[in-house]
Amino acid sequence: RAKALGQGAQQWYSHDIGEESRAHIRLLHGLHQAFERNQLFLAFQPQVSLESGRAVGVEALLRWRREDGSFVPPDQFIPVAERSGLIVALGTWVLQTALAARARLAEAGHGDVRMAINVSPVQLRDPAYLEALDALLARSPIAPGRLEFEITESVAVMGVARASGLLAGIKARGIELAIDDFGTGFSSLSYLDKLPVDRLKIDRSFVGQLDSADSGGRIAEMIVPLGQCLGMGVVAEGVETPEQAERLRALGCKEVQGYLYARPMPFEELLGWLQTRKEMHA
Ligand code: C2E
Ligand code: MG
Ligand code: MG
Ligand code: MG
Repeated sequence: RAKALGQGAQQWYSHDIGEESRAHIRLLHGLHQAFERNQLFLAFQPQVSLESGRAVGVEALLRWRREDGSFVPPDQFIPVAERSGLIVALGTWVLQTALAARARLAEAGHGDVRMAINVSPVQLRDPAYLEALDALLARSPIAPGRLEFEITESVAVMGVARASGLLAGIKARGIELAIDDFGTGFSSLSYLDKLPVDRLKIDRSFVGQLDSADSGGRIAEMIVPLGQCLGMGVVAEGVETPEQAERLRALGCKEVQGYLYARPMPFEELLGWLQTRKEMHA
């Protein structure tokens, strides 16, 4: 195909691919190194009840800080980790670290706050995933209660029967399940009804349009009753304005997450934030 475009185009085309894969390899190498040198950490973003104002959960979000202090965004390095398979080791570390953080939250009097972690479909593709999960949970000092996995709709790509079996296995271990970025992926209402899911997370691209006339706002408005109808909770992510929060409250959405409440923060800061919140909404 490149040939048909002429010699010049072909050279430009192959050069472009070379650049792309070199950048990819550099990023992957850097990520490996950062992982080995303990330069990855988790930031935690609270999820708040619109009714009580209390913190109901926190989402753990992976952070990579380079030696020069700059951050590489997860939207850049997670896809690279997924394509290389490194996400499996990273995912194990995220789970272990999040479990340790949850144990410390419980010690600090926040045992009712659920801990949500993002789980990649690449991790779930491993046929031995549940055995690996059991081994990890067995090594953890605490019960998995109040732990939630956020997965995307793409989990259904493995087939609804297999996906629902796998998710049922996760739930059988006492872990709650949320569909992340809901509405942006492989959406089929028939599979949604078959998956044992506790919660839908409305993607922030829809939430961000709630206070405008854009169609994304209408999608957010439809997801709330859809979740209710299916007996699932609904969390809106990316809530940035009081108007969006008000709209969500009027629609019957119970839980929110976004910069309006708190940005993702280091664990020590989270402890202080949760304490203040608890005193405010006792
Ligand atoms: P996500 O799971 O949908 O996480 C929510 C993202 O929205 C986070 O971006 C969060 O910082 C951002 N966010 C939250 N509230 C607001 C807001 O009010 N305004 C705006 N503009 N953004 C908001 P982040 O931390 O950059 O993560 C991006 C994505 O990377 C995540 O999207 C998730 O898909 C992935 N990711 C992050 N950590 C992990 C991880 O440990 N494992 C896996 N597999 N994926 C991860
Ligand atoms: Mg998430
Ligand atoms: Mg999301
Ligand atoms: Mg996302």
